[in-house]
Amino acid sequence: MALPVVAIIGRPNVGKSTLVNRLCRSREAIVHDQPGVTRDRTYQEGFWGDRTFRVVDTGGLVFDDDSEFLPEIREQANLALAEAAVAVVIADGQQGLTAADQSIAEWLRGQSCPVLLAVNKCESPDQGLAMAAEFWSLGLGEPYPVSAIHGAGTAELLDALLTHLPPTPEVEEEEPIQLAIIGRPNVGKSSLLNAVCGEKRAIVSPIRGTTRDTIDTTIEREGKRWKLLDTAGIRRRRSVDYGPEYFGINRSFKAIERCDVCALVIDVLDGVTEQDQRLAGRIEEDGRACVIVVNKWDAVEKDSHTMAAMEKELRAKLYFLDWAPMLFTSALSGQRVESIFAVAAVAVEQHRRRVSTSVVNEVLQEAVSWRSPPTSRGGRQGRIYYGTQVATRPPSFTLFVNDPKLFGDTYRRYVERQIREGLGFEGSPLKLFWRGKQQRDAEKELARQQAKSH
Ligand code: GDP
Ligand code: GDP
Repeated sequence: MALPVVAIIGRPNVGKSTLVNRLCRSREAIVHDQPGVTRDRTYQEGFWGDRTFRVVDTGGLVFDDDSEFLPEIREQANLALAEAAVAVVIADGQQGLTAADQSIAEWLRGQSCPVLLAVNKCESPDQGLAMAAEFWSLGLGEPYPVSAIHGAGTAELLDALLTHLPPTPEVEEEEPIQLAIIGRPNVGKSSLLNAVCGEKRAIVSPIRGTTRDTIDTTIEREGKRWKLLDTAGIRRRRSVDYGPEYFGINRSFKAIERCDVCALVIDVLDGVTEQDQRLAGRIEEDGRACVIVVNKWDAVEKDSHTMAAMEKELRAKLYFLDWAPMLFTSALSGQRVESIFAVAAVAVEQHRRRVSTSVVNEVLQEAVSWRSPPTSRGGRQGRIYYGTQVATRPPSFTLFVNDPKLFGDTYRRYVERQIREGLGFEGSPLKLFWRGKQQRDAEKELARQQAKSH
């Protein structure tokens, strides 16, 4: 969204630059090359109250006291005004009204842009109003006495200026969450999709640059927008029966790659098959958030223990997704189908979560104090100097240690479990990087990290 433009106009030496500096204090000047404009105009970002705008100083436009209002000058000025939401014309109160002020005013009266008249160099509050009074005759409305140097009167001027800016555009809508419904053929993906969207999809948007039959569906749930990826692929009926061993796994891999969160659909009647494991492995490898959806729950004969027993059995084969929540659904009856979104929303939030270095190190110290790092045969013991979260999506941590080789898989898994126990991250995989570092460097780095996160 382009910011509204405020044009500053006036003869040389009336105080335009001084006023611009006051508006744009501490902001860097941004120089835009405007094609088709003879002189590059300089824009700076200005702000007042809760508004931000771009200020263009027409300092390059010279309105001489006695020179005619030259056509090329007029053209430059017109260009500056054409894109402005409001113009501020500045006059010099100490010098009083001049012929050039009058010719500028005459030109401005013919413009459609709203104009505010500032009479600068009015340091004295008593005399200011009197000094400004003679500028009423310019026919540009109320003259605002200001002192660009001292700041007197500029608040009133800026308040008036804000009333001429277009209303603040709505905050950019958040990107929809990309949800991929993943699973072998016949587990019930299309049925789940239909249960969610109905036969008619809310919005269908073919995405440019992808295969033509990739169709994403956007819906709203849990106060968020969701893009259901590749719903054409989900819905496509298989015209050829390739047998149970074949299915287009690459299409699923692509959807996993594109998504924020996966709903991995398992058929409760089949249990976890090798293909389910391949998909699950890919989700973990790609670092995607995930919800395990165990479908066709209506078709299972059950008592009050069945769900817990079933979950245990399924999880034993999906141990690498032990962080993913599991839901038992029926696309047929609609049972818990809507819960997929509530659970997925939490997973996405965790996937994007960042924790401070000091919290990470509290957890690490706790972990080490419960269970010391392993010692090598030669008697060297592993030491964890410190850890820090280096990325999100998925949350990734680098652990600085004396020698990564001293930390075997068992201990690494233990540390990951401890991080989860201490910090949660339900529904999101974690990545841990073990890196060797000299103790002195590590201490320095830690001090720097902690200073940064406070
Ligand atoms: P521009 O040519 O219109 O950009 O004007 P400048 O901002 O460069 O200012 C021209 C001169 O007027 C400088 O010497 C400033 O110090 C002076 N000036 C600017 N604002 C004020 C003000 O509010 N009061 C007084 N007394 N002098 C000012
Ligand atoms: P997809 O290939 O994964 O999209 O699976 P479909 O949605 O086409 O479903 C495959 C078969 O399973 C169809 O005969 C569905 O009627 C059936 N099915 C899907 N969901 C359920 C469910 O929740 N319960 C039962 N009993 N059958 C289901």
